[in-house]
Amino acid sequence: MSQIALEGMRFYAYHGFYEEEQIIGNNYVIDVFIKTNFSEAAESDDLYKTINYETVYLICQKEMKIKTKLIETIGARILFGLKYQFDNIHEATIKITKENPMPGVKLDSSSVQLNQNFIEQCPRCGNPLICYKDENCWCQKVKIHPQTQAMLDQKYDGCLCKSCTKYYAG
Ligand SMILES: [Zn+2]
Ligand SMILES: [Zn+2]
Repeated sequence: MSQIALEGMRFYAYHGFYEEEQIIGNNYVIDVFIKTNFSEAAESDDLYKTINYETVYLICQKEMKIKTKLIETIGARILFGLKYQFDNIHEATIKITKENPMPGVKLDSSSVQLNQNFIEQCPRCGNPLICYKDENCWCQKVKIHPQTQAMLDQKYDGCLCKSCTKYYAG
């Protein structure tokens, strides 16, 4: 297990609940921590893509440009973007800090932190697997005969690991 970190990505952006904040703007700092497994990525079967800093930065930059009332919403969008781009995230943490959030008040910053762990246990073989639990999950892209899929849904709770899935894939 390894961790990739991008700390202190700074953006000037126009988020906030009040119209004022959406006009004046504010300084924001984003930290992203991604736990992954490099050896898995190195083996690189085509379901895996290597996590790179530039893409992580671009995802954050893109989401920061969209005016949003709550920074929690931005965090959720960044997480979605990461899952869309990378298949090998074990755990992701996104921290968004808003500097000087209350003008005229001595308060350095306010922040929100999102954390999600995607490691599950394969219900068939017991090995660990990554499941994103949404349309970004690798398991959604594997073609399994509908009849086989129905049988698997009935037999197992949740998705199977890659080798078990391969066993059933047509
Ligand atoms: Zn398995
Ligand atoms: Zn899945």
